[in-house]
Amino acid sequence: MAYSITLIPGDGTGPELVAATRRVLEATGIALAWDVQEAGADVMDRYGTPLPEAVLSSIRATKVALKGPITTPIGTGFRSVNVGLRLALDLYANLRPARAMEGIPVYHPNVDLVVVRENTECLYAGIEHDVIPNVAAESIRIITRHATERIARFAFDYARTNGRRLVTAVHKANILKATDGLFLRVAQEVAAEYPDIAFNDRIVDNMAMQLVQRPEEYDILLCPNLFGDILSDLCSGLVGGLGVAPGANIGRDMAVFEPVHGSAPKYAGQNKVNPTATILSGVLMLHHLGEPAAAQRVEMAVRKVLRERRSVTHDLKPTRDDQSAVGTQEMADAIIAAMA
Ligand code: NAD
Repeated sequence: MAYSITLIPGDGTGPELVAATRRVLEATGIALAWDVQEAGADVMDRYGTPLPEAVLSSIRATKVALKGPITTPIGTGFRSVNVGLRLALDLYANLRPARAMEGIPVYHPNVDLVVVRENTECLYAGIEHDVIPNVAAESIRIITRHATERIARFAFDYARTNGRRLVTAVHKANILKATDGLFLRVAQEVAAEYPDIAFNDRIVDNMAMQLVQRPEEYDILLCPNLFGDILSDLCSGLVGGLGVAPGANIGRDMAVFEPVHGSAPKYAGQNKVNPTATILSGVLMLHHLGEPAAAQRVEMAVRKVLRERRSVTHDLKPTRDDQSAVGTQEMADAIIAAMA
């Protein structure tokens, strides 16, 4: 029986990245029945919303989606489809692994971090308004015991299942005493239930510096929504950039897999961007489906192509205009060839 998967190409560079990833995943031989669903600015005219109900119904039925990035207008316009999707389906855990891979030059070759980002509240609740238009505006940051408890349990359970040693809670509880004070207290309470996993905490600004200087000392970073978003881009920078950073949004019985990066609109339609982040999100999806052998095959093939440094996109070459860089689809072809 084929696995039914909702496939959201997204916009910007999303469709080309998702097409490349689809070919790689199909080359594993696992039967995948795709339910293609459109979302984003391009469907506004047709559906009156960038997140049509059909997208949500499809994911509620299949329980699993692979998604390309979707553009969000900056400073104006509709709310983020990406955030909307996570909230509508209560995909409360955002999992973002960042591991250095041979072939990608980095400052710290032993980096192996996982950002566990709370995905439903904090400033992303989107409760904000003008107090006086153009003069003052305010935003409400929500942290609850319920959401903190479940994301902390997710981080510790993930640590146990995946042989991890340490969870670090990231916060700004020295300044945000009510919100991050609660986040830290609840994280400490949950940590006490997992004596086999070490626990510590860091104030977010110090955490950013520590990650640049001594990332090997850290393992799982348990973060409220905004800090997790920012630090996961930092972590992707440590291991080669946004082009190689996969992600997953996980709820109680549904999961949406997508790269950490956005739609990189300036490269749209140019067959230029790196498909690795989306392909590795597909690897996370194969694990989630209970297909570890296929997941391993794809990951090994990605690693081989990266190690050889021949068939890789411009972001992994020494200079941006390196003539030896290959395109998105050609890198996917090389990964498929390496699987064989
Ligand atoms: P971005 O991640 O799209 O791109 C930032 C830079 O990272 C790019 O200019 C490029 O240099 C590099 N980059 C990103 N993906 C790459 C890839 N696959 N290969 C090589 N290089 C890559 O971030 P942005 O420019 O801040 O945001 C663009 C749009 O994406 C915005 O509308 C934003 O809201 C949206 N966004 C969407 C998601 C999502 O869909 N989950 C996530 C983040 C941002």
